[in-house]
This record gives sequence, C-alpha cells and structure tokens, in this order.
Amino acid sequence: MTVPASEMISVENARERILAFVSRLGVERRPLAEALGQVLAEDIVAPFDIPPLNNTAMDGYAVRAADTTGASETEPKRLRVIADLAAGYVLDTPVGPGEAVRIMTGAPLPPGADAVVPFEETDERLRDPGEQARKAAEVVVYKAAGVSANVRFRAEDVSAGQTVLQSGRVVRPSEVGVMASIGLSEAPVYRRPVVAILSTGDEITPPGEPLLPGRIYDSNAHSIAALVKKCGGVPRMLGIARDTIDDLTAKIHEGLDADMLVTSAGVSRGDFDVVKDVLAREGAINFWTVRMRPGKPLAFGAFRAPDGRQVPHLGLPGNPVSSMVSFELFGRPALFKMLGRSDWQRPLIKAITRDRVENTDFRRFYARCIVTLGEDGRYYADLTGPQGSGILTSMSAANALTVIPEDQPAAEPGDEIEVMMLDWEHAP
Ligand code: AMP
Ligand code: MG
Repeated sequence: MTVPASEMISVENARERILAFVSRLGVERRPLAEALGQVLAEDIVAPFDIPPLNNTAMDGYAVRAADTTGASETEPKRLRVIADLAAGYVLDTPVGPGEAVRIMTGAPLPPGADAVVPFEETDERLRDPGEQARKAAEVVVYKAAGVSANVRFRAEDVSAGQTVLQSGRVVRPSEVGVMASIGLSEAPVYRRPVVAILSTGDEITPPGEPLLPGRIYDSNAHSIAALVKKCGGVPRMLGIARDTIDDLTAKIHEGLDADMLVTSAGVSRGDFDVVKDVLAREGAINFWTVRMRPGKPLAFGAFRAPDGRQVPHLGLPGNPVSSMVSFELFGRPALFKMLGRSDWQRPLIKAITRDRVENTDFRRFYARCIVTLGEDGRYYADLTGPQGSGILTSMSAANALTVIPEDQPAAEPGDEIEVMMLDWEHAP
C-alpha cells in the first residue's frame, strides 16, 4: 500500500489529537505504596511538627554542654548518670548540673540537656557492650560538646501547617514516605485508567494453547498489557476477536466500561481488516496514516458506552513491533494525561550511531537500538539488527529508539543522531 505523503499526518499531530480528546480521571484514595506513579489530587499538609520534639541524633549521653567545656583525653569530665532513655519514651526529670542521661537515637532530649555526647567520646567505648554499661553510675566524657551538638530540633524538617507535597506531584517512594511520616495511610490521587485490550485476527491464538498450522500466538495483547501497567494503568484483557464484524462488535461492547479501549491489528487495508469497518459503524473514528516507521496505520476515536460516556479507542497496527512503538508514542501519553501526569516525554538525547541507518521513505524512523555510554563520556547507538516490524526480539534487545527525521535519507556511522530512551534502568 502506498500512501502519498500528503495524506500522512505527523507523530506530533496524531498525539495532539489524542491528547485533546482524553482527560484526567476522578480522584480516589489509595493505600500509600499502591499510589506509586499516581498524581496527588490535593496538597498534603502536615498536621504537626516533624520531629515533634527535640531529640538525639546519636546514641550517647544527654548533657548540659557547659558541663563538658574543656573536656579532653587527658582531662576528662565526670558526670553522674541519672537515667537511661530509649527511643519512644519521654523523661520529664530535668538534667541538672553535673548530670547526664544515657540516651538512644530518636529519644526526646530531657529538659535541662542541650547537647548529646556520643558513646565514642565517653568511657563507654572502653566498656563491654551489655548490661554493665546501663548500670554505670558515672560517665567519663573525653571531648567537649558544643550547645546543640547531635541534637535534632523540633520542626527542623516540617512545621505544623506546612504543605509538604503539592497537588500535581507524582508519587514516588519518597512521597510515600513523607505521607506516612505525617500519619496518612492513604493518598488522594487521580484514578488509574482501566484499559481494555483486544487482539483481532483469525490467526491469533492465546499463549498456552496448542498452535495450529498457519496460526501465531498473541503477543500484542500481552506486551500492551505490560506497557499499560508500566504507565500506571490497569489492563483488562478482552481476549481475541475473530475477523468478523459480529465477533468484533460483541468483544468491543464488553470493553466499554473501561476508560480506554486498545485494539491491535485489522487497521490496514487487507481484505479481512474489519476493525476499521466496525469502528466506522460503531463510533466516531479517525483513521490516520502517521508519518512514522514502524507503525503507519493508526486508528483513533471513541465509542459511546451504554452510560453515554465516550470511550477513547486506540487502534494499533498488528505487527508486534509497530504495535508496541505506536503504544509508546500515543498510548503512553494518553494514559499519563488520564493519570494527571504531563511528564510523558521520554528523554531525548544525542548519541553517535555506529551503524548506517537508512531512511528513504520520508517517514520518521524509530529504529530499535542499544545506547551505551562510551569511555569518552559520549553516548553510542548500535542498531539491534534487522528492523522488520514483525521482529519482536529486536524490541527486547533495545533500550532506545532512534529518531531519524522524516527528511533525512540516512545517518552514517559516526553521525550524531537523536535517540529516545525507553529504559535507563536496564542497560543491556
Ligand atoms: P493486520 O494488521 O491484521 O494485517 O496484521 C499485521 C500483522 O500482525 C500480521 O502478520 C498479523 O498476523 C500480525 N498480528 C496481528 N495481531 C497480532 C497479535 N495479537 N500478536 C502478534 N502478531 C499479530
Ligand atoms: Mg489481521
């Protein structure tokens, strides 16, 4: 099939149209760690100071700093130990002149004390750890402690009433920790999009079943489900629709309670590519030819759900690489927007290609490549081998995609090219 360049739309244009159609979902409260990757829908305000009391940053002795002035290895100071204080307990007895309280990290500083001398600067370093240390009535201090030494101050992290996290913030492990530290057990976040996933084609067989001659296993539904999860969405598998209008229509109807419907295959111009026929009948659907490789045919539109909602539909191409790359470029931003996230753009960096990358058909070429950091501090890109849109192992080998512009017929070895990093964490 040859499509004149004039009928093709750019990647950006297709993405803008999709983003214009989808919107942020409603708010829910999730147990903290389950909100990972979701976006805060409210400001998070601390109801109390953190730390709530002055406390010790070290295991040691709470003292009056003035009592240690001049202490040294040769002229140590001796203090009377009046109590032993573990974290989690409060001592109201004041520390008087010449006195000390043996204190464990995190325990609130008793009144009167204004510094903590760590064990290492007392005769406790000489003692066997264990019971006798606790029972010693006296401590020998070998080093002077300044006022506030080893003290963590009330409210030094957060003051009561302070906004600790702003609405719109993506929840990462640190945000989970901050919310827990102020006593929250649930996070107010925008809901995760539920994505109904449907494969289409008479040849498609679910993994786990025997493969009949002429058939292939359904990889698309599973790779897309994994991408949906990685984007923070919730995949809902609709299975496989045969290439008949009736079966396809019935399966699509099963997915209309989702926030988005993703189908694969049946959008090219072959005889049995009935997805486009059903879509045209059942919804308001656009078919686009996007100026990119892999993945040229793309359908996008909406179905009307029984409850009147417009359910956005992304019709991915059937070839396994095309379907993953198209989801990456169009599905991921859409899911991010539903989650309330605007940070869908993958890192774009410059790398030196070590291969020739040919690009003669005026489309943007997203070739699978492996980007590594050279000893010279520059990034290098190596193609993963054959770039056919059915060669799914090329996707597995890659950690990035080249971004060769539409009007650049080739990049030569040694040329600097732009690459889009898919995976910074697992460099091959
Ligand atoms: P189509 O768009 O239906 O012409 O499909 C294009 C190519 O993708 C064909 O070779 C299909 O067999 C293949 N294909 C379609 N759906 C899937 C799927 N779910 N998993 C793997 N390959 C598929
Ligand atoms: Mg087909």
